[in-house]
Amino acid sequence: MQGEPEVAVCRLAHRPGRDDRMTTHVGLTARALGADRVIYPDNADQSRRTVEDITGRFGGPFEVELVESTSRIVRNWDGSVVHLTMYGERVQDVEEEIRAVRAGDGDADAGDPLLVVVGSEKVSFDIYETADWNVAVTNQPHSEVAGLAVFLDRLFDGRELDREWADAESRVVPMETGKRVVPADEE
Ligand code: SAM
Repeated sequence: MQGEPEVAVCRLAHRPGRDDRMTTHVGLTARALGADRVIYPDNADQSRRTVEDITGRFGGPFEVELVESTSRIVRNWDGSVVHLTMYGERVQDVEEEIRAVRAGDGDADAGDPLLVVVGSEKVSFDIYETADWNVAVTNQPHSEVAGLAVFLDRLFDGRELDREWADAESRVVPMETGKRVVPADEE
């Protein structure tokens, strides 16, 4: 989020056909819940286009990047790396430490960019070794989208729900019943 150290989300792998919706939803969830960027493998161009289309319509800033090697991004990340996995430490046990490192332990100039890594197919063991934290959102198998959503909400302590959006074409008017979308500059 603006004025804070960067949070990027890396989707490690993408299986075209099988993963299309999940890969797109990783990006949409990253955007909606406060991350600054999603990094996709370069065979996920359709997901990139969908996330960029939503960002154009409903606002940003939010970047989508395609890379040749996601594991190289993880290995060379200049900051901290969280790998979300059902085998990891419980999020409720490590969230405070992750927040403190990201905030630079109170030193406003020393914040650490954070890379949040999610898998699709089997994740190779070097990702577990490279990560600063292997984090579980429950030690039960579920989904990268659910794990990412809960983790980001814990990381930002709910502040992402009040995020403001820039350069949107449209905005949704919250209402008890019905659906209303108006031009973003309309009161
Ligand atoms: N079978 C794969 C493996 O052994 O690595 C994992 C498949 S799982 C459907 C896809 C991704 O969802 C995982 O790589 C992980 O990022 C995420 N995930 C699933 N359950 C999770 C949990 N309980 N906590 C955190 N992340 C989870």
